[in-house]
Amino acid sequence: MQFYSTNNNSSRVSTKQALFHSMPVDKGLYMPVSIPYQDISFFDKIAGGSLADVGYEICKALFAGEIADADLQQITHQAFPFETPVVALEDGALGVLELFHGPSLAFKDVGARFMASLMSYFSGKSDQEVHILVATSGDTGGAVAMGFHNVPGVRVSILYPTGRVSDLQEKQLTTLGGNVQAFEVKGSFDDCQALVKQAFLDTSLTNRIALSSANSINIFRLIPQSFYYVSAYGQSKRVGKPIVFSTPSGNFGNLSAGILASKMGLPVHHFIASTNLNHVVPDYLHTGTYAPKESVATISNAMDVGSPSNFVRLTHLYGDQFDTVAEHVKGYYFDDPSTEAGMQQIYSQYGYVACPHTAIGIMGAQQDKIRSTQDVYHIALATAHPSKFKPLVEQVLNIDVDVPERLAVLATRKKQSYLIDPDYGSFKEALLATI
Ligand SMILES: *Cc1c(COP(=O)(O)O)cnc(C)c1O
Repeated sequence: MQFYSTNNNSSRVSTKQALFHSMPVDKGLYMPVSIPYQDISFFDKIAGGSLADVGYEICKALFAGEIADADLQQITHQAFPFETPVVALEDGALGVLELFHGPSLAFKDVGARFMASLMSYFSGKSDQEVHILVATSGDTGGAVAMGFHNVPGVRVSILYPTGRVSDLQEKQLTTLGGNVQAFEVKGSFDDCQALVKQAFLDTSLTNRIALSSANSINIFRLIPQSFYYVSAYGQSKRVGKPIVFSTPSGNFGNLSAGILASKMGLPVHHFIASTNLNHVVPDYLHTGTYAPKESVATISNAMDVGSPSNFVRLTHLYGDQFDTVAEHVKGYYFDDPSTEAGMQQIYSQYGYVACPHTAIGIMGAQQDKIRSTQDVYHIALATAHPSKFKPLVEQVLNIDVDVPERLAVLATRKKQSYLIDPDYGSFKEALLATI
């Protein structure tokens, strides 16, 4: 595949460059130069397979002649040892696509694990170990740490602000061991990010180790997220209705991945951008004016984004034509009291326990259903397991929420981290001491 920068249509880079550099030097975003179009028979044939098999078949179309089939098979099956089931809430009318059956219990596993497998493939070919540096405020770091754990040819250093991540999040970052190490920074998330940025600019460091990032804007975190839209299509075909996807959104990577799937030819009636009070995209869809803002804090905090990093990708996929975007994407947003009320309504009506983000996705689908004149099947994306937001969900629904065994075991493990001051000298010294 070849990629261009959204800031410069005539630039071209390879798969490997887009993967390891994440961001073009002109600060745009990488996008595929061409998206291979498949007709419906392709999707009908592949969509019934496992997530790994769906991914494999799409990868064959995307990377034909570039990566051997056997390697693609290995990459996708290593990345996706779990499924993304569609669970019916209202038979034939409303379903939930559960994306939280991976190791860190959130959909970000899908992107992080695929990226890890692909990096491992390339670094295996060059014999040079890749060193991933990530700053995290909690959630993404867990998906990255667990996604890269035990992946050959890759080392991971995670920086997180001490005392500012939840206990379980910290355990995900600090107890894996092996190729994953954690730096506990006596400072804020911004300090962590500044240290990572400085490391990339430090040639005395980058000459010694092959640094890379697992940045959320990396196009190879987005591409694999298109696979579960295809899987959902396969699982819902028996309903026999056009599909509408409602995606709870913050940085809009997840929704852009759905649009990418539809550009590959997947039949989707339309999309719904469901957000919390950070509703710059729903506003844009109503008015045509895009006005990024400071983010506001909500209970669906993984979506607290006032200036979504994938907005440019979303509009590029529609040729930057507002009318086309507005025709294919509807926007709804919900404040915290209505999110809590929605969680309660979803629990009492369907017996379904939704995290606040997932609840917003379901509510967006319900709102759209009220306004819809067509008989369609709404599928809301469930982006995190409710136990990731255990105190909140338990308080709002007045129930006990169990943490799945695979994550609960981490709580008993011993934390291992390097405690450092928030200055670059301390970080560099500690990092070099580990290699
Ligand atoms: C990251 C995240 C989102 C937002 O996804 P985007 O791709 O940034 O729009 C929604 N829900 C949860 C639980 C998340 O972790």
